Amino acid sequence: MPEYNWKNYLDKALAYHGHMCSGLILGLRLVLKGLELLDLNPDEPQRDLMIFIETNRCLADAAYVVTGITLGRRRIIVYDFGQAAMTFLSLNTNRAFRVAANSAIRPPKTEKDHAAFWSDYSDEEILSYQEVSVELKPENLPGKPLKRIRCPICGEDVTDGREVISNGQEICRCCAGQAYFKVIK
Ligand SMILES: [Zn+2]
Ligand SMILES: [Zn+2]
Repeated sequence: MPEYNWKNYLDKALAYHGHMCSGLILGLRLVLKGLELLDLNPDEPQRDLMIFIETNRCLADAAYVVTGITLGRRRIIVYDFGQAAMTFLSLNTNRAFRVAANSAIRPPKTEKDHAAFWSDYSDEEILSYQEVSVELKPENLPGKPLKRIRCPICGEDVTDGREVISNGQEICRCCAGQAYFKVIK
């Protein structure tokens, strides 16, 4: 990791995330390690990268800050597993690495300067990684939707094969009783 970039990433991360915290710094270290393992330069646009993030807490924001890749282009997939880990997949080489933060190291509750605390630790001390493979179904890849159906109950479109079959009909998940909300009026 080139030393001169670190402050730049830290400043960008703070502006994006809104506060300085250990999760954000660990996230930055983790993302930079993932790129390094895939031989990708963090200062260049990431054209063939997908990131699978296993948390929706502070750590996650570092992925966007460093790489610029976004959820809306299907290059970031969030698995809400509550784990401080991400997998970095190159769609070009098909190689992937899962990088996880070492849970044993945490700053004391009284720590004021999170950046200084973590700068005392090497990547080897705070991160571990494994080469992995990620099976991606065609309907989960970036690019145009492969399938689109119209739910006959609500009339909304469902893309990417996310519909379910009910009584022989393709319907949306909300109409199938899987809604996460209740309609009030
Ligand atoms: Zn935070
Ligand atoms: Zn519907």
